[in-house]
Amino acid sequence: MFGRAPKKSDNTRYYEILGVSQSASQDELKKAYKKAAIKNHPDKGGDSEKFKELAQAYEVLSDPEKREIYDQYGEDALKDGMGPGSSSHSPFDIFEHIFGGGFGGGSSRGRRQKRGEDVVHSLKVSLEDLYNGTSKKLSLSRNVVCPKCKGKGSKSGASGTCYGCQGSGVKISTRQIGLGMIQQMQHVCPECRGSGEVISERDKCTQCKGNKVTQEKKVLEVHVEKGMQHGQKIVLQGEADEAPDTVTGDVIFVLQQKEHPKFKRSHDNLSVDHTLSLTESLCGFQFALTHLDGRQLLIKSNPGEVIKPGQHKAINDEGMPHHQRPFMKGRLYIQFKVEFPDSGSLSLDQCRIIETILPHKASNQITPMELEECEETTLHDVSIEEEMRRKQQQRQQEAYDEDDDDSSGPRVQCAQQ
Ligand SMILES: [Zn+2]
Ligand SMILES: [Zn+2]
Repeated sequence: MFGRAPKKSDNTRYYEILGVSQSASQDELKKAYKKAAIKNHPDKGGDSEKFKELAQAYEVLSDPEKREIYDQYGEDALKDGMGPGSSSHSPFDIFEHIFGGGFGGGSSRGRRQKRGEDVVHSLKVSLEDLYNGTSKKLSLSRNVVCPKCKGKGSKSGASGTCYGCQGSGVKISTRQIGLGMIQQMQHVCPECRGSGEVISERDKCTQCKGNKVTQEKKVLEVHVEKGMQHGQKIVLQGEADEAPDTVTGDVIFVLQQKEHPKFKRSHDNLSVDHTLSLTESLCGFQFALTHLDGRQLLIKSNPGEVIKPGQHKAINDEGMPHHQRPFMKGRLYIQFKVEFPDSGSLSLDQCRIIETILPHKASNQITPMELEECEETTLHDVSIEEEMRRKQQQRQQEAYDEDDDDSSGPRVQCAQQ
């Protein structure tokens, strides 16, 4: 039916009847129709033919699907398309439907469509992805309104009321749960699966078997922008499951950043750990750091600078790019660790040399007199397990002390065994 070439004159008449341009919005259409319909309403002595024409024009143009067909193929296409199943309203029905009866009443009761559910997926990304930006192609399968029956489920476009639930889509059952109490339970009708209607076996659409929807595999492209955060949502509107008479929900991707072996992120800042040898920490260092975009950064100490264990340094504008302002970047922090030489790796002679260079703390010097007074002790190594046990005991003691501080007034002390 869409095979013929469109005739230009065919698809402007409805707009002319309503006195609007072809680009008129739904709101403009409605206003124009209301004004003209009131003027031409037969009850007010208007021309009933003109009134019918107005209603017809409005019925088509107010339905986005019909309007598209009309714009492309004109009136004839729509007349051909009116099968026995499609609803054809009287002009009065439409008038009532839009204006709720009364003339001045502006209550519009547009058909309220239910909204389909959103589908949420998590999307794993690397820190490199968030730094550089990327796009990922994902293949998802979803329900789409059956293209063959346009979501009617039947060949004829007709359906009957479900016998099982009288069209309500639910079934109510009761059961006694003792002592005169009755529990009422609602189930989705199994015969029509909640739709309230049935399609006879031989009228079922051959493509969707009466389900109204079919499965489709679709490749979605998700754009991860520079500077996006862990947990941030990327919404692809209307890409969730389709269903008849339903506004399709969104597919939402929630970014999950994989841990990076080297860099840690905190908002727009990055940090890395770098271990220096004791000599480097005292005498200076330089090293190359591969950034998240593959650039090599040369990082070096200032002459004569000593780096202490746990010390931080920062490089400006080498952190994460700001989302939507990627030319602005946070800071890159470097936390230094200092590796000390192992026990026994310095000879006594070497120690003498170091002693001549590094300052001794004068306060720690003990006079021979004081030495006479001191008792000898031995330092033992402590195993990790011992260390943990000791810390735990300390925590328990602290918690106990805090409890003591909280309580007030007289208290009885229990004898501890
Ligand atoms: Zn049913
Ligand atoms: Zn179908």
